[in-house]
Amino acid sequence: MHTKFIFVTGGVLSSLGKGLAAASIAALLKARGLRVSIQKLDPYINVDPGTMNPFQHGEVYVTDDGAETDLDLGHYERYLGIPMHQRNNYTSGRIYNTVITKERRGDYLGGTVQVIPHITDEIKSSILGMASDDLDVSLVEIGGTVGDIEGLPFLEAIRQLRADLGRDNVLYIHLTLVPYIKTAGEVKTKPTQHSVKELRSLGIQPDIILCRSEVNLGEDIKNKIALFCDVDKDAVFTAIDVNHIYELPLTLYNEGVDQKIAILLRLAAKNPNLQDWKDLVHNLHHPKAHITIAIVGKYVDLKEAYKSLHEALTHGGVANNAAIRFLYVNSEEVTAANVAECLSEADGILVPGGFGIRGVEGKISAITYARKNRIPFFGICLGMQCAVIEYARNVMGLTKANSEEFDLTTPDPVIYLMKEWFDFRKKCVQRRDMTSEKGGTMRLGAYPCVIEKGTKAFEAYATAEVSERHRHRYEFNTAYQHRFEEAGLIFSGLSPDKTLVEIVEIRDHPWFLGCQFHPEFTSKPMQPHPLFREFIHAALANKKSGHES
Ligand code: GLN
Repeated sequence: MHTKFIFVTGGVLSSLGKGLAAASIAALLKARGLRVSIQKLDPYINVDPGTMNPFQHGEVYVTDDGAETDLDLGHYERYLGIPMHQRNNYTSGRIYNTVITKERRGDYLGGTVQVIPHITDEIKSSILGMASDDLDVSLVEIGGTVGDIEGLPFLEAIRQLRADLGRDNVLYIHLTLVPYIKTAGEVKTKPTQHSVKELRSLGIQPDIILCRSEVNLGEDIKNKIALFCDVDKDAVFTAIDVNHIYELPLTLYNEGVDQKIAILLRLAAKNPNLQDWKDLVHNLHHPKAHITIAIVGKYVDLKEAYKSLHEALTHGGVANNAAIRFLYVNSEEVTAANVAECLSEADGILVPGGFGIRGVEGKISAITYARKNRIPFFGICLGMQCAVIEYARNVMGLTKANSEEFDLTTPDPVIYLMKEWFDFRKKCVQRRDMTSEKGGTMRLGAYPCVIEKGTKAFEAYATAEVSERHRHRYEFNTAYQHRFEEAGLIFSGLSPDKTLVEIVEIRDHPWFLGCQFHPEFTSKPMQPHPLFREFIHAALANKKSGHES
């Protein structure tokens, strides 16, 4: 087998940026001409994060093949520029689900099913499923922190893989925290020592230690860590805090992380070409303008819930040489009376995706404000649905128009559940079995969309057909399509068979566009998404035209 594996574990505490570190290392290896992919193993019991509340877990990232995955997969796509799939994300729940299904089917021939070997074998086969002749390196990030009970089967599985695959084919990287104690004026290595001790007690000896730190670690500190943790002196690296996440690949390169990996894994790798990363960082550090984008949503207290959105706006800024100031506005606090005050600083207004009725009226008020004051507006998924409702109510006079998600008895369900999905949901409600509603009724993953010429959407994409990712149940109700058209709404993106509305715009407005899909999932720093690029472009023009920021 050709593929070599790099396992990335984390110690001391969570939120050290393990996903970003793994994505950055993968990007460096790719820049060295290697064929690289990356996988995330999450120890929690949910089969996938699709059922988790964004307030707790952050964004649910959706792949082309419709997998609802951990938000780190978004970083992987953004840093590596390659699409992720369901096989790039496993959870304990999914592993156990497979093993229990096999057990019920009688696959284990009457044996006792145990964590070792059955669960660990299933984990190993999920990891090895990435191997192929077309892949040089597969990085595997283990979620959570070493010492977590849930993580043990994963650590045991990756421990076994070194013996299974051989030393030259497996590498362990451990990310820890080296805190700087201000009052003492020194950094402390003890948490790292303890974390590595814990890892070694599970049979894993790390080859490389990445030390997250707010200061650059001197040789003496690195040597001390090497000595206590039994790694090469030149295998301890500082992962220093960066101002911008896209600086991390260059930071790790300057430390020599990728070179050490290449040596330890005996990879035939050329010197990396990092010019595009250098250009990106230069661009981020030297913006020619600053603009304020208001994000009117429900999950504003947890920025992780809008991770891809935040990144896609940043990319749109990069494409326009502009730095974005993010103004997160809680839609539950916005009313028709205070909307002008809430959004007075906004050069552009974005209403993101979401589920449930909370905050919807605030979003609609924000859209009225953007429409009437000719402020660039971008509505995504629920944001597009709200724009449609706003137009129906305030331009077409359908004052009770709504989405069936919020009002099943509305006389004008301009956003609705398509018949077959509606029937399915009704059955679920009758059986009080709402959980089986999930998945089956969601439109998930990539769908084609045909772009109408002569529209803002076509100006952005400059192509007649695109593919975009979805995650929603409700759709625009095409029974109302003609009435909307007559009232000036433009349907600039439709499914190829024209039964699903994917993009709407309004005429006589600098830039007002809503899309049923999630363009933020496919935006990349090196290839900003065309709709974000154009939205930021319009917001800049709005600012220049005298709107006060
Ligand atoms: N709640 C809406 C629906 O299910 C929108 C979903 C979203 O914004 N992702 O259709």
